[in-house]
Amino acid sequence: MFKLKHLLLTGLFLSNAGLAQPAEPENSKLKIDFWLSQYRRVTHLQECKEAHEVFETLLKVADKPVGVLPKLFIFENLAFGKTLALPDGSIILPFDVIKFCFKNPAYGKARLAFVLGHELKHIVRGDYAILRILKFDTTFPSASYSTQLRLFWKSMETQQQKTFETEADEFAILYAALAGYDTDAIVSSTNNFISEYYGACGINMHGDAANNPVAERLNALNRRLNDISSHLDLFNFGVRLYAIGKYDAAIELLEKFVTQFPSREVFNNLGLCYYQKALAHYAEWKHETAGNDPHLIYRVSMAIDPVPRLRNRSLDQHAFHEMIAHAIKNFEEAKAKDANYETGLNNLGCAHLLKGEVDFAKGHFKKTLELKQNYHEAHNNLGVASVVEGRVSDAFENFKNALKLKPDYPESIYNLGRLSYQLGQTGAAKTYFKKYLQVDSASAYANIVRELLGQKIPTSPSPNFVESIDLPHPATEQSNRIDTPAMEMFKFHDWRKQLDYFQFVAKATGEKIALRRAAEGHKGVSAKGIGIGASEKLVSEKYPYPHSIKATTTGALRVYADLNLVFEIRDGKVRAWYLYSAM
Ligand SMILES: [Zn+2]
Repeated sequence: MFKLKHLLLTGLFLSNAGLAQPAEPENSKLKIDFWLSQYRRVTHLQECKEAHEVFETLLKVADKPVGVLPKLFIFENLAFGKTLALPDGSIILPFDVIKFCFKNPAYGKARLAFVLGHELKHIVRGDYAILRILKFDTTFPSASYSTQLRLFWKSMETQQQKTFETEADEFAILYAALAGYDTDAIVSSTNNFISEYYGACGINMHGDAANNPVAERLNALNRRLNDISSHLDLFNFGVRLYAIGKYDAAIELLEKFVTQFPSREVFNNLGLCYYQKALAHYAEWKHETAGNDPHLIYRVSMAIDPVPRLRNRSLDQHAFHEMIAHAIKNFEEAKAKDANYETGLNNLGCAHLLKGEVDFAKGHFKKTLELKQNYHEAHNNLGVASVVEGRVSDAFENFKNALKLKPDYPESIYNLGRLSYQLGQTGAAKTYFKKYLQVDSASAYANIVRELLGQKIPTSPSPNFVESIDLPHPATEQSNRIDTPAMEMFKFHDWRKQLDYFQFVAKATGEKIALRRAAEGHKGVSAKGIGIGASEKLVSEKYPYPHSIKATTTGALRVYADLNLVFEIRDGKVRAWYLYSAM
């Protein structure tokens, strides 16, 4: 019998920090089969599909647990508050919790991301409340309900458990942000979702609120999460500035964020910013031999500009070495946070490769492949490293290995074409280039391929339309100006129109950057009729010539530098778009 049934019904969400000692391992309740046999699972409802979509998105950005694969199970007749993680990686979610999150439909996914992200963090930690509860159940089998309750809350009071709970909440916010959800929907100065949620779980029933450690914790938590949430602006806008090539400004924002919240993603993004700066300096430094330089001809697999733009500045070997050192330092930090973070390791390899440290580079690509055998990007990068070393047959083999895993991978098709072309294997080169144009006919690389094939390059139609996002003057609207440590930063969100207005003055360059962003819920459309929710296919029809497409963990950013326009794509759809100006 489940002695703590009432307790579970009311208090589990908060309590499942758990850990302490592992309990009796042979309990059937530790396996999902038990729950499947006792409760009705639901999968077919629209809300369930959305919950699974949120869960899949979170899995892409969250830290990876060792040894278990997290899975989501939604139950119809399971009481509210009984959200918990099992040691087999299952997350159990009552359907009522989904309904609670979706009470405000516009905020539903973000809020659910918080609830699920919290449980994911417990799994990553290997920290299961149910073990503790079951142990408790057997340790005090005959205690009265009120005694159990008291003992249970007492057991919650150790500092370690509080820390794990707080950490789970903080990471839940971070995961939600990294997955691209609007954290203002979860916590902000005008929104109390988390307290309401814990309240709905029955937390406030326990004792006198005035000296209740739970109530205290909630207050502290809200303050801390609100703080993180406003700092997340630094992260989100840092990524957006990175996308439009404002690397100095992006670095300023991300470096402010990282002092508050050092996470592998931030270090990785900082590394990417420095890498881009290094690459631009490299291109300037080597511009006389650019036509034969493998680093400038071949394509490594990371989120970079399609073609480094050569500018008429003096070559700067020194700046290159400085920037690449910063890039490596940040990728190393990402690795220190999580030695099994494939994206970071792969990027670290790319930075070493550009620096000319081929052996280090190969070591990192190989390590990436040990962690994730089917990581086609690392095979491609090993191929570029082989080209740099002059090992042609190895290069062919590596590029082909990448294509075995992903037959239409543009980077490797392109590299095979370039390598064949360079070796004078004209027939093979032609075949690869033609294949390339089938998978990418729009980017700057497509035009390089056309040039090498001797084809005519289609002229990009000069923009004869003007993009605009209707924006009320901030002063006339109720402002929710957020205080951030960056005095030179200003953010304003218009809740009625779902528009973000963001302004930033970069210290390093004095450049003033303004950005207007149409977010989820915005009803307007771009000059060519693209609105939130439009398919990526439609975007590429209406806007066929992006300056670059930057890969993100959950999708891509399509950047149109000539229009100062960026579409944020997730799951094949436009989730937001923004216009920017820089002075
Ligand atoms: Zn928890």
